[in-house]
Amino acid sequence: MTEATTSGGGRPSLPMQGVPQPSRDEVLHLPRVHISSHPVMAHKMTALRDKNTQPPEFYRHVKEIGALLAYEATATLALETAPIETPMGPMIGERLAGGIGVTPILRAGLGLAEGFREVIPDAQIWHLGLRRDEQTLEAMEYYNQLPHRVDLQVCYAVDPMLATGGSAIDAINVLKRRAIPRLCYVGIIAAPYGLLKLSQTHPDIDIYIAALDESLNDVGYILPGLGDAGDRQFGTF
Ligand code: URA
Repeated sequence: MTEATTSGGGRPSLPMQGVPQPSRDEVLHLPRVHISSHPVMAHKMTALRDKNTQPPEFYRHVKEIGALLAYEATATLALETAPIETPMGPMIGERLAGGIGVTPILRAGLGLAEGFREVIPDAQIWHLGLRRDEQTLEAMEYYNQLPHRVDLQVCYAVDPMLATGGSAIDAINVLKRRAIPRLCYVGIIAAPYGLLKLSQTHPDIDIYIAALDESLNDVGYILPGLGDAGDRQFGTF
């Protein structure tokens, strides 16, 4: 069970208590939201969610789900022609036109980024650590390895749990300050609340998820969800 965090005076902080949440049906057909319907994904998701799945296996499933999501999210990437010679003679092949960036939101996004690297080994990995200032609710970057020179056709912000949507929205805000032609968000599980917030705040991005769950509990965890994706990957219970 998730414990409530304590704020200032030691009182439990229940940020979602009493907050109205949209239903699953209300967000199911939002534009630019892609929910995987692949049976292999459904199979792996059940193993991932199971509370008996231990961290090494959990991390492996996150990576594999990351690879499947990468496959789905890259289906519309632009190609350019590439003349090559096969052992049999010349041909016009195709290559991805422009670089691919992956921005894991620390720390839970690391496993997903590894999955992306399995599919696109030469993707640039732009690590981003975000923390919210409790007073202003502004995103503070505590770690940023975004390069100064940008030559990408697309960048994927990856974070497994789209719960309230706060970090996803902040990460896309950070990435929008770079000249990247296309931005996407990729997550494993979304709650209707966070999905609607992200989609309304950034209607110009594509959102790829493996599953859409029912709701958030009072502390902002996804139900039925899988618990804390960071703790379960890295064994920090
Ligand atoms: N972050 C998590 O790791 N799990 C949730 O359910 C929500 C946010």
